[in-house]
Order: sequence, then C-alpha cells, then structure tokens
Amino acid sequence: MRSDLAGPNGTLIIGGIHGDESASVDLVREFVPPGRHPVALLPAANPDGVVRSSRYNARGVDINRNAERNWRADSVEPSGGAPWSEPEARALRDFILDWRPAKIVSLHWALGEIDADGVQSRALAEAMWSALSAAERMPYRLRIAERGQPPLQQTDAECPGSLGQWAGYGLVYPDDSRPAMVTLELPYDASIPRAETLPDDHVDQVRAHWARDPQAYLATVRDPVFKMLTAACELTLK
Ligand SMILES: [Zn+2]
Repeated sequence: MRSDLAGPNGTLIIGGIHGDESASVDLVREFVPPGRHPVALLPAANPDGVVRSSRYNARGVDINRNAERNWRADSVEPSGGAPWSEPEARALRDFILDWRPAKIVSLHWALGEIDADGVQSRALAEAMWSALSAAERMPYRLRIAERGQPPLQQTDAECPGSLGQWAGYGLVYPDDSRPAMVTLELPYDASIPRAETLPDDHVDQVRAHWARDPQAYLATVRDPVFKMLTAACELTLK
C-alpha cells in the first residue's frame, strides 16, 4: 500500500531463497530487529524449497535466477521459462515494489562474503563490515561490485537473474532512488579465515557441519550475523 512504504531507512531481510540453505532461514526467523526504522523479515522466500530441503522451488527452478535483470535461459542453474515465471519470484518482486525498502539484505550459504551490488550499496555493506570485530571478520570478505557509474551496469555474469542483479542494478523506484542491496553469504566455517579461493567442497563442508549439529553451526555464526543485520537496520541513509 502506498500509505505504508518502508521509507528512506526501511530494511528487508530475506532468508531461504535457496530452500536448502537452512541457516539462512533459521537466522532470519530468530533475528529481533532494533526498533528505530521499519524492518520486514522474510525467513523463507522459497517455502516449498525449505520444506523439501531443495535449492529450487517445487517446479525445479532457482528463484535466485528468475529475475529479469540479465536473465538467461542457459543459466547454469535452472532459471525458469522466462523472467518472473515463478510465483515466489513474483511475490518477492511485488513486495519490494510495493514496500520499497531502502536496504535489502539476502542471506545465503556459504561463500563467506558481504557482497554489495551497485554504488548505492557501498554504505550498507561497509556498515555491516564495520559492525564486526577483526576476529568476526575472519571468515568473511567484503566485496563491493560498483564498476560502472550510473547508469549502473551488471559487473559480472556469475549470477544471471539473481535478486542482487535485479535489485542492485535494475531496480529504480518511482522517486528515482535505488535500494542498497547486499547478499550476505554465511561462512562455511566461522573458525578459519576465508581463503581467497574457497575449497571446491565448501558447500559440502557446511552441509556436513549442519547435518552433524545445526545448533553448533548456528552458534558459530549467529552473533556476528545479528550484529551485521542490526547495523543494516540501524543504518540511516537520509
Ligand atoms: Zn544461496
């Protein structure tokens, strides 16, 4: 509703676009945002995938490859029959267009990255990075993709049709503002520094860790993630 916009400092926090990235769902469910600015929490953006422990929705499509920006039929991950072909992707798009969050943070496993898309996203990513101690930063790297001054261009083709591509480079609100877009990739192991090149089996490692003891995994990542999400919510842009 137009009377209920997020405002210049509203934040949308998303988990579970990939339904098998369980920690992203649990952390967004647990997070209690600070009360200063409006916050919307969407723990399970791909509910069928969450129930089935699948990366994809029930039709086998990757919701994070189904947005229109840089959408590709030949994407490595199944991208759907057309941009926005999937109801989950449309619901997310429509909520963003209706509520117009100034800041969007989407949680994923397991690249250990605070990944900003677009020049307008730098302050958000830096606020999240600054919220962490040196030890807490260890399993992460800060990645700010802002090549291409406005009009902004996609900086790489690694995630065609992703939320980051669309919200970071394609989306302009009616008042000509753009949302700050950060993809927060949880670490595969919070106890070791993030390697410049991740081990090939980093996703398998985090899933094995999760399968052994989900609470133990969450215990290693929870506090730093909540610090970053709190900083995102509290960041005042205007
Ligand atoms: Zn993911």
